[in-house]
Amino acid sequence: MNYENARASSIKASPSMAIAMAAKKLRSEGRDIVDLSLGEPDFEPPAHVGDAACEAIKKGGIRYGASAGNEDLRKAIVEKFSRENGLEFSLDEITIANGAKQILFDAFLATLEAGDEVIIPTPCWVSYGDIVSLHGGTPIYVNCGPEDGFKISADVLAKAITPRTRWLMLNSPSNPTGAIYSADEYRSLEKVLLGNDRILVLSDEIYEHILLGDQPFVSFGSVCPSLRDRTLIVNGVSKAFAMTGWRVGYAAGPKALVATINKMQSQSVTSVCSVAQAAALAALKGDQAFVGQASQTFARRSKLVSERLERIQELQFTPPDGAFYAFIGVQKLIGRTTPDGQVLSDDTAVAAYLLNTFGLSSVPGAAFGAPSFIRLSIAASDAELKSACDRLEQMVASLQ
Ligand code: PLP
Repeated sequence: MNYENARASSIKASPSMAIAMAAKKLRSEGRDIVDLSLGEPDFEPPAHVGDAACEAIKKGGIRYGASAGNEDLRKAIVEKFSRENGLEFSLDEITIANGAKQILFDAFLATLEAGDEVIIPTPCWVSYGDIVSLHGGTPIYVNCGPEDGFKISADVLAKAITPRTRWLMLNSPSNPTGAIYSADEYRSLEKVLLGNDRILVLSDEIYEHILLGDQPFVSFGSVCPSLRDRTLIVNGVSKAFAMTGWRVGYAAGPKALVATINKMQSQSVTSVCSVAQAAALAALKGDQAFVGQASQTFARRSKLVSERLERIQELQFTPPDGAFYAFIGVQKLIGRTTPDGQVLSDDTAVAAYLLNTFGLSSVPGAAFGAPSFIRLSIAASDAELKSACDRLEQMVASLQ
């Protein structure tokens, strides 16, 4: 019996989740595994977050909520955009979903016609292309390699645009590369977009607060106000507040687009869990010290890993500006031979060898549209990160 239609079979399950599960299985079999495959902070959210959730449960009255999200949380999001990004939104320009990921589902479900194209600069987050395909769109991957700072330039964007282009996806700081767009880079993209008024921009700013070096974060919305009626800014509490499992993401955009997104929500999930919304409210309204401290922790870890990786000659590596990953070029390892005679044919073979022989779990670059790289998460303890660098070094040294 076939249980998949063409839409479902056109996509794959999230590769980083699949690798994390494989690592978990090896660990349950007694193997010593360092799992750096998944992108989630390895610490707990601030205590007031959990307290607020408990309070909400004790208070009771938890019923279906508004599809746009609870008003108190939307107000806190309006304040967040004003305080941190200098952007003013009204309540009906804000929507709340089960994670930033669901906003992407809602936005594409609401807007894509069959065959509409979505420009996705690669390397990109593993889910973008498949979410586009699931909604009948065509992902147009545009390769932006290390020589471009892993960012799309105005010229490259202009060449990728066709009459079918509906969305441009931007993600800064980027998963997996850590690249951050500057205000000038955004302004040059803005010029191209101003001449193409069918194109919407989805700016995924979920790693806004994970800053590792001197490059500051700027919101696309605050740099390009002329595109306000075509920009959807996506963010959430997963990364900034270590709240991945609470599943609260949010977006700000033009009122009519937000209303359509809310309509999608009303016929799918109805609303986001009210307990999780109470927790997110406490995160956004409470003491923000946690956010800066977490960023400092990631910056320290990134330095620790970067110093080690930069010394391994066979790897290509640029220290990231943001997010919590090390994106490592393994081109020079491809075609090399392991001690038992296996030729490493691609990045997936490198990652498999690294996991099976050295117990280090990574994600092959192909998952991000960038074969010949692997991604390590740096959201792990210093001891794990040191061990990961040792294992990587041993793997490189083992090859002929
Ligand atoms: N966008 C990017 C670039 C991500 O890396 C992730 C999660 O890894 C998400 C969105 C999803 O975030 P959320 O947990 O809010 O769904």
